[in-house]
Amino acid sequence: MTPIRLPNSVAPYLGTLRSALLDALAVVAPTSCVGCAADDRALCAACALELRPRLERGRLPDGTALVTALRYEAVVRTIVLAYKEEGRTDVARALAAPLAAAIGFALSTAPSATRHPRPLQLCTVPTSRGAFRRRGYDPVRLLLRSAGLPRTADVLVPTRRHENQKLLDRSAREQNLAGWLRARHPLSGQEFIVVDDVITTGSTLAEAVRAIREGGGDVVSAVALASTPKLFGNFAFTGF
Ligand SMILES: [Zn+2]
Repeated sequence: MTPIRLPNSVAPYLGTLRSALLDALAVVAPTSCVGCAADDRALCAACALELRPRLERGRLPDGTALVTALRYEAVVRTIVLAYKEEGRTDVARALAAPLAAAIGFALSTAPSATRHPRPLQLCTVPTSRGAFRRRGYDPVRLLLRSAGLPRTADVLVPTRRHENQKLLDRSAREQNLAGWLRARHPLSGQEFIVVDDVITTGSTLAEAVRAIREGGGDVVSAVALASTPKLFGNFAFTGF
């Protein structure tokens, strides 16, 4: 077998193609529940119930308001991992619903919502090119599109590569990410809600908030689909 080498100009489109093909395959091929492996359904009724939004609010280390929709544990963790790491984009719509609920709450409670007629913009944390190529999709952007919220501001760019965060503790994560992002262009007068999928220590979202503010923009809230148990211990969360 000889590896097929594609011209560089084709590579960026492969991700989109892969995602579309996986969705098409899910329609014709037998599938199983992402959460519990039961046959025939991408998400069984019992696992779908676990995705009912359980909105909680807290604050990032810098004081920015934070809203989360789910707790990253048990079946929720299994579903989110399968969506992010195993190409199970067939559950994007199911995961989009709780994220949309959290964004809706953040919008409704944003301090500027009544002061300015200007709509808030959603902003995501950029994924690395390597992660995009490996997955074939940007998990957070796909959730936003699935929720009918496609107009995401593309305002943040990485200034450099950074180490994988997974094995780092909170202070090491903060050091690893300090200055990692910058605004693509001046953001004065613009307001944002920053959105991410899983929040562990808050360092990634805090870096995104810092970069937007450094660019002259304002962040009224951060939103995450799911918060890890590590986070429950770090922040005083308030249920609704
Ligand atoms: Zn299930």
